[in-house]
Amino acid sequence: MISVRGMSKLFGEFVALDRLDFDVSRGEKIVVLGPSGSGKSTLIRTLNRIEPHDSGTLTIDGKLINDKTDPIQLRCMVGMVFQNYNLFPHLSVLENCILAPMRVRRMTRIEATAHARRYLEQVGIPDQADKYPIQLSGGQQQRVAIARALCMQPEVMLFDEPTAALDPEAIVGVVSIMDELAEQGITTVCVTHEMAFSRRIADRIIFMDQGKIVEITPPETFFTSPKTDRAQNFLNQML
Ligand code: ADP
Ligand code: MG
Repeated sequence: MISVRGMSKLFGEFVALDRLDFDVSRGEKIVVLGPSGSGKSTLIRTLNRIEPHDSGTLTIDGKLINDKTDPIQLRCMVGMVFQNYNLFPHLSVLENCILAPMRVRRMTRIEATAHARRYLEQVGIPDQADKYPIQLSGGQQQRVAIARALCMQPEVMLFDEPTAALDPEAIVGVVSIMDELAEQGITTVCVTHEMAFSRRIADRIIFMDQGKIVEITPPETFFTSPKTDRAQNFLNQML
């Protein structure tokens, strides 16, 4: 589903991603771990071209992603959920969910609304459709953001620390939605510090440090016997 070969990203002279190589199979769940500043967000953002990569290749569902990629096609394939929800503040929950499906997927309002209501139901907030983001708690806003991304029916979902801004109670709710999503077989790349969640849902862990992939391993291996000292040190700090 995703194929990355020698992909690098620079900010000026600074190498944020250093020649990454990995593949993600259709339906696979990848959790990206690593210390702050290791390049996790940059990686997620290059996968949907919020940050274009500078060298190497990125292929999603057989399509080369580069400056010739149709952004509309990419938005249909890849959905993203951010740490800070990034909802449109001037639109209601329902309008947040139907805007892209109508504009980008060319759904009718009726069709898009039916989809949106189904996903809002799935994330447990069917009764919040007419509220504005500011009227919702952080946990509810993140549920909207997840529903909004799902409304585009993407092939790939990207999450960048979706629970990092939430209080402990809201984290439990959002993690349980993520658990459900994991069962539905959508290809997922998720940055998170929720270790129990990672262990539960990840098919493989990508561990990054200083812009490089240090290890790619199944969670059992990563959490019990990481191959590198860097990963062991990271785990010692996290657990
Ligand atoms: P992580 O998500 O793992 O904490 P990031 O991907 O956000 O790390 O950042 C990786 C490195 O790239 C950091 O050193 C950060 O300061 C730098 N960086 C990220 N975005 C930018 C940017 N837009 N301009 C300059 N440097 C950036
Ligand atoms: Mg980050």
